[in-house]
Amino acid sequence: MRITAIRLERLVLPLDPPFSAAWDPEPRRSFEATLVRVETDEGLVGVGSGDTMDGFPRFEHLFVGRDPLDLERHVRALETITFHAGRYWPLETALWDLAGQAQDRPVAALLGGRAERVPAYASCGVRRGPAEQAEAALARREEGFRALKIRIRAAALDDGLAAVTATREAVGDTMEIIVDLNEGWRMAGDVSPPIEASEARRAAECLAELGVLWLEEPLPAEDVEGHVHLRSVIRVAGGEMARTTAELEALLAADALDVYQPDAVLAVGILRARDLAERVLARGRWFAPHTWTNGIGVLANLHLTAAVGGGPFLEFPYDPPAWSVERRDFMLAEPLRVDADGFVEVPDRPGLGVVLDEDAVARYRVPVG
Ligand SMILES: [Mg+2]
Repeated sequence: MRITAIRLERLVLPLDPPFSAAWDPEPRRSFEATLVRVETDEGLVGVGSGDTMDGFPRFEHLFVGRDPLDLERHVRALETITFHAGRYWPLETALWDLAGQAQDRPVAALLGGRAERVPAYASCGVRRGPAEQAEAALARREEGFRALKIRIRAAALDDGLAAVTATREAVGDTMEIIVDLNEGWRMAGDVSPPIEASEARRAAECLAELGVLWLEEPLPAEDVEGHVHLRSVIRVAGGEMARTTAELEALLAADALDVYQPDAVLAVGILRARDLAERVLARGRWFAPHTWTNGIGVLANLHLTAAVGGGPFLEFPYDPPAWSVERRDFMLAEPLRVDADGFVEVPDRPGLGVVLDEDAVARYRVPVG
């Protein structure tokens, strides 16, 4: 089998009302997704999505004409490109999708096949006051979730801690609460100063009191030592946007995290994250990747997490009405959902199990810039 072409399609879903993501100073009036389709001379087509793939066409020739199943080689090639240009991991995702189709097995089975379903946590996307956040948590519990993640910010730490306190009072011990400070990285152009170490520690101490399962990105990603110190107070998570395996290896070598979160479609790809996960889990730490892209990205991370026996929860970006599964998965024929027990099933189809809504793809397609 040979790769004959790698086609990119840019989709833009208008968001009305807009979505005010907790980590983005700008309200989002549209939601962009780039589809990657790897075409082959045998008619199989692999699909991936996640990163924007901006600038990729100039590298397409490094893959066309080659065997799509030569995944190790393609991952090494993508790593050389990452140094010069973008994080084109959706291409690797599409190649895994293709490999699964070629072998008539789900990607999770190819990667290790430890689990067929994974408990999910509802990952909130907007910031709320205490009463509203508690109410949202109860609504998620009604839907089956046994865990949720709340975003708080350093600039309004006491407001955030109040929201977590109110949520704990509302749900008692019936739900795990995860908190994300989003201090690991910034949106382009957000030059606000980093959190002070004493503030991160104050948050950690308060959240530990509230029985929070883990505190995510409490400090800038480069502050490996700072993460190590905070681990004595609360479980610490990070690594979602690591750009190289070396960054993650440094965290592991320093034993700086309790929860490793490299996103399959944004950070270091599926193969490298799988290898890391094996060592993370062998050390008794957790592997629970970031998944905040679209339904295809969630699927890629679901297969990866299920394959390695990761968890204890999979991130499930979901915060209705602002962030519904219909918005998140607008390119899929059926949105991915949790069952009444709060689990997400790994699709039992070959590859990733992506079924595109081709009408939606055609409706929201714009020229690739
Ligand atoms: Mg995060």
